[in-house]
Amino acid sequence: MFDAHPLDVVLTDGNEIVCGSWSRGWTMPEPITLSDWADRYRKLPKEGSSEAGDWYTSRMPFLREIMDCLHRESRVREITLKKSTQVGGTEVGINWLGYIIEHAPAPVMYVLPTIDIARKFSEQRLTPAINLMPVLQERIPPARSRDGGNTTLMKRFPGGVLVLSGANSSASLASMPMMYLILDELSKYPTNLDDQGGAEQQALARTSSFTRRKILRISSCTIKDACAISTAFDAGDQSYLYLPCPHCAHKQVLMIDQLTDDGQFVCIHCGKLIEEHHKTRMLEAGEWIAKHPERSQSHRSFAIWSAFAAVGLGYTWREIAAMRVETRKDPAKEVVFVNTILGEAYEGASQKVEANDVQQRAAKWLRRTVPRGGFILTAGVDVQVNRFAVITIAWGRNEQAFVVDYVELPADPTRKEDWDILWDFLAEPVINAAGITLHISAVAVDSGNWTQEVYNAVRPRQSQGVMAIKGSKDAARPIIGRASKQEVDKSGRIQRRGVNLWIIGVNSAKTTLMQRLLGDTDREEENRLIHFPADLPDEFYTMLTAERFDLTAKRWLKKQGARNEALDTFVYAYAAALSPSVRIHVKREADWVALEAKLEPPTDDLFTAPLGREEKKGPDKAPKIDVQTSAVPRETDHRSAPALAPRTNNPFASSDWLDRR
Ligand SMILES: [Zn+2]
Repeated sequence: MFDAHPLDVVLTDGNEIVCGSWSRGWTMPEPITLSDWADRYRKLPKEGSSEAGDWYTSRMPFLREIMDCLHRESRVREITLKKSTQVGGTEVGINWLGYIIEHAPAPVMYVLPTIDIARKFSEQRLTPAINLMPVLQERIPPARSRDGGNTTLMKRFPGGVLVLSGANSSASLASMPMMYLILDELSKYPTNLDDQGGAEQQALARTSSFTRRKILRISSCTIKDACAISTAFDAGDQSYLYLPCPHCAHKQVLMIDQLTDDGQFVCIHCGKLIEEHHKTRMLEAGEWIAKHPERSQSHRSFAIWSAFAAVGLGYTWREIAAMRVETRKDPAKEVVFVNTILGEAYEGASQKVEANDVQQRAAKWLRRTVPRGGFILTAGVDVQVNRFAVITIAWGRNEQAFVVDYVELPADPTRKEDWDILWDFLAEPVINAAGITLHISAVAVDSGNWTQEVYNAVRPRQSQGVMAIKGSKDAARPIIGRASKQEVDKSGRIQRRGVNLWIIGVNSAKTTLMQRLLGDTDREEENRLIHFPADLPDEFYTMLTAERFDLTAKRWLKKQGARNEALDTFVYAYAAALSPSVRIHVKREADWVALEAKLEPPTDDLFTAPLGREEKKGPDKAPKIDVQTSAVPRETDHRSAPALAPRTNNPFASSDWLDRR
């Protein structure tokens, strides 16, 4: 009997959170489902609800099954509600809070996107709801009473505590262990907070010590692939609401493409029109059916959209149809319509570059060679905990880019000697189509992580074109501006020999690169702006296209869990190419002609012929190789080429570029 009680878990954890009246907590209350609890106690305030007074689950019958997963005896641990507006999502959260306070006391955390929103939620939604329910009022001391048990963001009650948190603050999420967790508007949480991981993960960590924990996620969607509620929904049992047709009784999920422009649904079975006045009866007979019933024991996930809202509580079908007509006229409204009415993640037709499409463009030349038209080399370096990710790009007229190489060098950035792996690799020569050796003109190294290590490594090499850079979150920032000399050592003092730090407008750079990749779709190989060798691995293209433009956030966001170093390093190499020592964007035709004369001299010798290695076939036969993870030079035939390459006095051919001043 006692192991079934949540207080037991609290005690064995030794938490000091249980205060107030213990005696009440030791009495097992009668079992009651959350929907029955809400029908008995819940009152809707006048403010913020269209139907004040008693709560009736029968008004939104589809909420019954969702709510009943939340009652204490249910074995379901995770409940996800992917929703549009006006379907009662947050009311489910408030009902559950009331049930926990009155019936199943335990520590519970309610997370909203920011602390400000959490405060408003407490003042405008929660407090009015509590004040209407005497069973809750008597358990929570009056606000600002002397024992401090009731503040805007924390409410103690016998046997538990409610903490309201903002997902914008690690400090706010770092609290005591929590048995229950509510993640409201989850898709608006930051995916990396104070470099300690996503806010969702930080909040989830609070529940890890409770085996009987419950997690409720409620949110509308954002952009496809970056939408946390969609990810959670997909991980659950994926339940959809099936309603019977009033004419033929065939059960179906009402979809937007069944909706006529005058606001009626067409039955997918009998083809007859379903009208709004049928809805109430249909909802009463509604049934949640899971696509993955094998997951229903542990994670129920539900999808609901505005068409299911009870008559009188949301938009009418006619209004939804009218809004859809508006989106046809104004595509900017489409994203709002998809997120807030359809309750789905938005995947715009624009700004979408697919890995496969780009991979099809792989040319015949191989990595570590530069085809005709590429004259100036830059590199971009992303510093990770156990590796350097390095891209090398050759640039030509009109900012044409040729990907020369992408490698990942295993290394520990905190070890001084490991940086030599990077410098040695960057010093390796690259051969162009004329057999001439090219060297790298500028290298941009990201200092966003491992800041001090990057500063220390870059400082002695700045005169050789190595730059410390940092990506800016400011969406409108230019790709590269002026460097600022700023270095603070570990003790917090400004150092006299500072490092020049270049702030990179990563968002602008990504937009530019993605538009070029999109624009290249319909171009012939010789007219494309970005070119790829034959032998880059599949992963390179996946990483290059791992981000989508978020129309709401107005910036590029990574798919959840995806890697994007190929794109990040490309951005850094591009910034290096635009930096004052290189400036590919302001070179005149005369400059390119001069470079061409030096680097691609018109001769009849064997070097002007296509490189022998070009006889390998293109992408179809591209060898499937892993992303290079070794600093050991590869056994490729370019190793023999330098001996044949004529020595020239071109500025990029020096073999000691690291020492160049
Ligand atoms: Zn029908």
